[in-house]
Amino acid sequence: MAKSVAKAARDAGLQGLRGVGPALAERLARLGVNQAADLLFLLPQRYEDRTRITPIGSLVPGHRAVVSGEVEIAEVVYRRRRSLLCRVSDGTGLLTLRFFYFSKSQQSGLVRGARILCYGEARSGAGGLEMVHPEYRLFAAGPAAAVPELEQTLTPVYPTTEGLQQFRLRSLVNQAIDRCLPTLADALPESLLGGQGLPTLRDALLYLHRPPADAELEQLAAGRHPGQRRLALEEMLAHHLSLRRLRERGRAERAPALAGDADLRQRFLAGLGFGLTGDQRTVLAEIDVDLREPHPMMRLVQGDVGCGKTVVAAAAALSAVAAGHQVAVMAPTELLSEQHRRSFTRWFEPLGIDVCWLSGSLARGERLRAYEDIGSGRAKVVIGTHALFQEGLEYRSLALMIVDEQHRFGVHQRLALMQKGSVGDLRPHQLVMTATPIPRTLAMTLYADLDTSIIRELPPGRTPVQTVALPARRRPEVVARVREAALGGQRAYWVCPLVEDSDLLEAQAAESTRRALCEALPELAVGLVHGRMKSEEKDAVMRDFAAGKVQLLVATTVIEVGVDVPEATLMIVENAERMGLSQLHQLRGRVGRGAAASSCVLLYQPPLAGFARERLEVLRDTNDGFVVAQKDLELRGPGEVLGTRQTGLMQLRVADLIRDAALAPLVQQLGRELIANSPASVEALVARWVGDAGRYATV
Ligand code: ADP
Ligand code: MG
Repeated sequence: MAKSVAKAARDAGLQGLRGVGPALAERLARLGVNQAADLLFLLPQRYEDRTRITPIGSLVPGHRAVVSGEVEIAEVVYRRRRSLLCRVSDGTGLLTLRFFYFSKSQQSGLVRGARILCYGEARSGAGGLEMVHPEYRLFAAGPAAAVPELEQTLTPVYPTTEGLQQFRLRSLVNQAIDRCLPTLADALPESLLGGQGLPTLRDALLYLHRPPADAELEQLAAGRHPGQRRLALEEMLAHHLSLRRLRERGRAERAPALAGDADLRQRFLAGLGFGLTGDQRTVLAEIDVDLREPHPMMRLVQGDVGCGKTVVAAAAALSAVAAGHQVAVMAPTELLSEQHRRSFTRWFEPLGIDVCWLSGSLARGERLRAYEDIGSGRAKVVIGTHALFQEGLEYRSLALMIVDEQHRFGVHQRLALMQKGSVGDLRPHQLVMTATPIPRTLAMTLYADLDTSIIRELPPGRTPVQTVALPARRRPEVVARVREAALGGQRAYWVCPLVEDSDLLEAQAAESTRRALCEALPELAVGLVHGRMKSEEKDAVMRDFAAGKVQLLVATTVIEVGVDVPEATLMIVENAERMGLSQLHQLRGRVGRGAAASSCVLLYQPPLAGFARERLEVLRDTNDGFVVAQKDLELRGPGEVLGTRQTGLMQLRVADLIRDAALAPLVQQLGRELIANSPASVEALVARWVGDAGRYATV
């Protein structure tokens, strides 16, 4: 029912576009196109230049070009596969056109003497340059023959979906341009943009769909044309506005005011065995102020790996518990949630506070028991991953949600947990933590819904980690170093290569590394953790490693975030050239957590490409997470996908938060003005670029 309503709405929205029936509408919907105007915002992935003819003599393999000439020979050959070959000449050179599929009528047209205009990619073939299945048109021979008219603009190539051909999509976009562009509302008129040198929305869109023949293809490919910047600005602004709205809404909402309990806090701090750093105390004070308000706190704590965010979160949790409420602690991985369980249990059990752990691996019976404890309010602190907002789980009174390594989650996951924790009109306070320090202006755009606190100081007594990069052939030396360290009572991590999108392959690689290391180091106890192990198994191995029963831990990048074993002093990372800066920095952050000097060995496969070399150099030169983050942004070439997953910067359509970071101050300024003066524009922008909160998904 709801589906057919949605479908009807969609059909209505696409009405007037020639030839769009239900099947096509379905395919367009897959591209996010539900009404004609949406087509305007479906931007080309790249462009083809069909505006001019290239002489065959100056064709270069790999280039796409329009060529015009005369067919000299046409023959069907049967070498390996039956194919039709045409030799075309234009007086400057010879080009072979190769067709594996061809109809009778095509064959009868492509004959000696035919004049042809074709477009395709030149490749070097057996007998010189060739084009396989070029697009082509024949035209009349004879002295008066005029070459058919060429395209006037560059030809856009759109992202498309199965069953929707490029030419079809192009014609639909063209219709949309004619029909919708003239009346398209522009939320950012000249008066607002004054002096930025950015085109109007209409001009930007027109240019990007139909770039003139003399457009700079390289600039377009790099996403640096002013038209692209104009749209990137809109998109960043839209996301920024939707986050600010979230924040405004939060301000208007109510939350339990938590005064805290000085005595309980005191007992907790006394049991830690260390004093808080100045930054930890400052941030905790900021949190305390927020928690006393009858509105939900929305605070982000940024701080480099190992700066001690967890203790601060635990101290904040006590304020909720003291008032008889519950706290949820959400971590991005099971491994990390297990570690939080250990820390919170160690700190809270002596205070008589029950900690409950929700894991995906709990048996049904255990899970139901946990649900009961949470529903009855017996469990005061609930720790877990996404399991924290599963269906069927009810909190008794959730007053604070702590989200660790926020960059691994999307806004919508935070929203889901918040909704779970809402009782009547009361919302839980939110404390989110991240070890991915990002420059301030970017943070204000990305986390516009949050107040930020920063912990810069590391706990005292840490010695900076020494980092070296070594080619993989020096592995035997590294193995010897591990032996020496382990026999001297230290512990080491050995991180195996990242296998994108396959935790199975990754696990296999880790298994074989472990076997090899066991052979090379028979005197050591070698453990293994990877993403495909059951969490009890992982937990057991981690415990053995923490206790020193295992001295060398072979791991996949599952240990990247948050794992804390202060006795570990050696980190070895294989194929470091494949990993991003932030990820390597996170991995390195697993060592250097105790007083003993630690080192990090980055093994790489030579030769090192430019960016990879620079990344390793940055790590060798600095331990400062803020410097690493800044370099990460600079060194990550546009479109280098490597990073989006690890830093979790939101996925955008046009904007690239790294390339377009300089727009951030303008985004904030425009955000303020629009919120104050034109709420309708805010609505329009958010609807156009953000749609549902799901777009924030980063995992
Ligand atoms: P992160 O900020 O990376 O989450 P953790 O909270 O895991 O860091 O803390 C790292 C380690 O430092 C933990 O073993 C923690 O107990 C310890 N720690 C935290 N604060 C202090 C402090 N003020 N003095 C000494 N050790 C501390
Ligand atoms: Mg942490």
